Amino acid sequence: MFTPDKTIGILGSGQLGRMLVIAASQLGLRTHVFAPDANDSPAGELAHERTEATYDDQAALEKFACNVDAVTSEFENVPAKAMTFFAKHCVVSPGQAALHTAQHRIREKSLARELGIETPRFWHITSSADLIEAMAELDGDGILKTCQLGYDGKGQARLSAGDDFVAVFEALQTNDAILEEMIPFRAEASFLVARTTSGTLSLFPASLNEHKNGILTRSLAPAALPDVVINEGQTAVSALAEALDVIGLLALETFVTKDNRLLFNEIAPRPHNSFHWSIEGCETSQFTQLIRAVAGMPLGGTSCYGTWQMDNLFGEDISKLEVLATKAGLHLHLYGKSEAKIGRKMGHTNQQIRDKQTA
Ligand code: ADP
Ligand code: MG
Repeated sequence: MFTPDKTIGILGSGQLGRMLVIAASQLGLRTHVFAPDANDSPAGELAHERTEATYDDQAALEKFACNVDAVTSEFENVPAKAMTFFAKHCVVSPGQAALHTAQHRIREKSLARELGIETPRFWHITSSADLIEAMAELDGDGILKTCQLGYDGKGQARLSAGDDFVAVFEALQTNDAILEEMIPFRAEASFLVARTTSGTLSLFPASLNEHKNGILTRSLAPAALPDVVINEGQTAVSALAEALDVIGLLALETFVTKDNRLLFNEIAPRPHNSFHWSIEGCETSQFTQLIRAVAGMPLGGTSCYGTWQMDNLFGEDISKLEVLATKAGLHLHLYGKSEAKIGRKMGHTNQQIRDKQTA
């Protein structure tokens, strides 16, 4: 039952948490951010309450759990122990199965295959000998990734025949890695579904994504792809959300090949950068939808008005702010980060566009 006197607990204090705090506030809900850097951070500075503690601080976790009606996380790598503990007290989003699976690239791709969702060919790599053998079998370009903790293209190396595989494997500094075949994709598309505690699903229009050096730079939505591709992605993300019993949001990143095959890349059981356009572009934003799901409200509509473009603003883009601020129709979102480091996500812009999409 929805009553607006709830407190939503948020683990993590980055920009996703910040946009969740804003969405919750609009619905009259309170927020409590728990993070090792809660006091001086994008989400913490706007939340009603903050706990600055590590995710294994049992006393702090207990106090936090007593103060919130639901817990959601803005990142995948929450210790399972903390989530198991919260699950005894309140609604937990995205849920333990979703976190456990999304934390590991082999686990998520194996689930996709079990559900009949095609993935790039991949090999579990635990030694440089494994890598040499797998590259021979792959017989083409590959991409080696750490199985855990990678984000924004970090913990990855691209490989071609003739490279020094031993050196590349050692530089990764882990013995739990995945080698994937390099997909010469026509486009990257992402899909997003929301799911309530009673299992109701609501899909968002898909996004088309552009990356530089493994980092998302631009999203366009609704994705201009053939209906059959869109339907396949929407069916896949729904099946994954159900298999993982997700509460809240599940995003699916995919590659679309030149012959319109859809390949699973990875999942993220949380708000996704490629759906930031939904703040102005969609009847209900991804952040509001997640808050609705965990607060026990019915999900909102996800109609999209026109075509939207989202551009990330990085530290190196900060000098453009003055010009951007004067652009009619441009919705500027800044995350309140003081240090504008190169490659650091500082904000994003959303705008409705009329031009035909490029992909
Ligand atoms: P992250 O967790 O850092 O987002 P991803 O696996 O999504 O890691 O990789 C980041 C980006 O690198 C992808 O969005 C894509 O542009 C590129 N990439 C990753 N894997 C492949 C692949 N197998 N083939 C082609 N490009 C890839
Ligand atoms: Mg990714």
